[in-house]
Amino acid sequence: MTGEVRTTCPYCGVGCGVLARVEGGRVHVRGDPDHPSNFGRLCSKGSALGETMALDGRVLHPEIKGQRATWDAALDLVAQRFSEAVAQHGPDSVGFYVSGQLLTEDYYVANKLLKGFVGTANIDTNSRLCMASSVAGHKRAFGEDIVPGTYEDLEAADLVVLVGSNLAWCHPVLHQRLLAARQQRGTRIVVIDPRRTATAEDADLHLAIRPGSDVLLFNGLLAHLAATGATDPDHIAAHTTGFDATLALAQADAPDRTRVARGCDIPPADLDRFYEWFARTPRTVTVYSQGVNQSAHGTDKVNAILNVHLATGRIGREGAGPFSVTGQPNAMGGREVGGLANQLAAHMGFTAPELDRVSRFWNAPHLARAPGLKAVDLFEAARTGSLKALWIMGTNPAVSMPDAGKVREALQKLPFVVVSDVTRTDTTRHAHVLLPAAAWGEKDGTVTNSERRISRSRAFLPVPGEARPDWQIVTDLARRMGFSAAFPYRTRAEIFREHAALTAFENTGDRLLDLGALADLPDDAYEALSPIQWPAKRGTEPGGRLLAIRFPTPDGRANLVPVRHEGPALPVSRDHPIALTTGRLRDQWHTMTRTGLAPRLSAHAPEPVLDLARREAQALNLHDNDLVQIESPLGLALAKLRVSDSLRPGEAFLPMHWSGLFAARASTGPLSNPATDALSGQPELKHVPVRVTKA
Ligand code: SF4
Repeated sequence: MTGEVRTTCPYCGVGCGVLARVEGGRVHVRGDPDHPSNFGRLCSKGSALGETMALDGRVLHPEIKGQRATWDAALDLVAQRFSEAVAQHGPDSVGFYVSGQLLTEDYYVANKLLKGFVGTANIDTNSRLCMASSVAGHKRAFGEDIVPGTYEDLEAADLVVLVGSNLAWCHPVLHQRLLAARQQRGTRIVVIDPRRTATAEDADLHLAIRPGSDVLLFNGLLAHLAATGATDPDHIAAHTTGFDATLALAQADAPDRTRVARGCDIPPADLDRFYEWFARTPRTVTVYSQGVNQSAHGTDKVNAILNVHLATGRIGREGAGPFSVTGQPNAMGGREVGGLANQLAAHMGFTAPELDRVSRFWNAPHLARAPGLKAVDLFEAARTGSLKALWIMGTNPAVSMPDAGKVREALQKLPFVVVSDVTRTDTTRHAHVLLPAAAWGEKDGTVTNSERRISRSRAFLPVPGEARPDWQIVTDLARRMGFSAAFPYRTRAEIFREHAALTAFENTGDRLLDLGALADLPDDAYEALSPIQWPAKRGTEPGGRLLAIRFPTPDGRANLVPVRHEGPALPVSRDHPIALTTGRLRDQWHTMTRTGLAPRLSAHAPEPVLDLARREAQALNLHDNDLVQIESPLGLALAKLRVSDSLRPGEAFLPMHWSGLFAARASTGPLSNPATDALSGQPELKHVPVRVTKA
């Protein structure tokens, strides 16, 4: 193949368009100049995609207990073991753990099979670790999991506040767009992050707040806005509920700026500057990401941010709004089709009318009636024996889950584990049945990025060995389990049309996720589909910002939610006096199964290094390149040390990526804290108390 194929980058939620071509047996990529998310730009990870396409480590054939098997034998066994578990122990004895790397069509059929026909909602996704708190916060405030703004809003803002987001490394192309816009209009940038990240280096103001004090900061801001007449009474009266109670709790929680500055441990003058800038800048966008979400109080943090936007009417207007940016390429697509255990499909939940609607649409009389187990609980059910069979698709929980030692124990104890993946990982070692999945460049479908833009991911390589697309594997299993009539799909276009039709089914305008305009898309139009932003209702212009006026709640109003500042679930102590946070590096992705194949990406950070605040390093007589042991109440890791001036005193940072040889010794998984947010189920990956000693 010599022509260029239009596809989408498989890494972060920016969702950049990529032009890929194969020449001389090698894959070459460049940014798609016509894609409205990146206009030709790519970051270091995206531009190195061609160097990550080798077949080393690929799973190429089905295996049963480590021995090569036929697809028929492998899928027959999976169908038999899942069916037996359901018959003997009930539908909740089985589960799927899926991935934001799946395409929307893959996600749709997996969700439909488990919730609609097996009858359990035990399907959760690794996106639970990424943005579940934003989903829960959006649903509490807006009534639906809505991201109101667009990337253009960042470019049209006069003030961009980045909370818990290292945009420069984690969403680089969006950061480039922001910096380019700043050149034009002088946008002010405020970064709220305990670490002095690359993003903070570019900021006009960096608030290095005490970890976990975000709610206090935003409650203080709400109280300040009210005290200085900077709220929007007309917007509050016409479009919201809960303002008075929310303000009262904010005032009680953050009674004055001195106490807020002390609680957040930042200079009072910096706090004043941030509050004044926010109060005086109608075009303000607040971007939030994993630093907010990955917390035992992540949902409250999200709502504290949403509260100040709702109270000032800074939502659904050009250059104004709260904006959650997602980590994974298709976290949003997964949310749309019900890839989370507490969502049904098409952003619907488990209320009686929603259950009735989806049950009739799918003709599924045994639809799951209640939410299933979220990620941490799913693996705990496996460890304690109530789960009997688990299928893991395209993700590596043996490394990436918090308290990963227990996850490995769970995988060892489970009577039946199926893993479908592209490469061999720490997780595939535990598979009773291992299934070869098609990879990026080989499979075809759609993804949705952080600004609700659906783009096609297209194949430009032959599928190697016996690998198959995930949607096809799930469809084959569904037929073997006796559900052929509901899984008639021959193409991914058929699945996409059904998903689009479900979003529009009996949708009288009460649900904003509406893809009705795409429900009858002919095959050739699906193949040629250009990036399109939802909502895409029949007969209306698709896309744009959402929620200027009417919210998808019963009364059409958004909810301000009273929230109170709470500290981390596991605070530092005398035994574990250092607050460890985790995060991404610029040039790596997740557990490096793909980016680890490109030598130039590894050059940026060739090995795991613990950054430790200078004060602690000096007190402990530790120096650059010392090998140190990092011990949390949950586990141990080893890493080289770097003395850091980018961290607050008392803090340390360890990247999340390393696995493989280092898995037991230097990955963050065994260390991290499995405490979860009560509403979202998202683990507190951003904070665990540790002690550091010379190894
Ligand atoms: Fe890929 Fe994200 Fe980089 Fe864009 S910004 S090229 S989507 S990793």
